[in-house]
Amino acid sequence: MTGAKCLVCNSTSPDYGAGLFIQGNFLCDCCEEMIISLKAEDIYYPFVKNSLKKIWQAGSIRPEKRYLS
Ligand SMILES: [Zn+2]
Repeated sequence: MTGAKCLVCNSTSPDYGAGLFIQGNFLCDCCEEMIISLKAEDIYYPFVKNSLKKIWQAGSIRPEKRYLS
């Protein structure tokens, strides 16, 4: 199985099991860590916020950690 495409960095995670699925969208482990530590003054904040906007607008957010190993 090939990795899912991350909706933030747009890269395909080589480690498919390490990541987060939100509303069917994949967020790689790297971006997950980045978002968790992200601050509003961070230069990446607007970019990440825009990338995630479609998920936040979809309604209730129920992040679910999936371990596919
Ligand atoms: Zn990513």
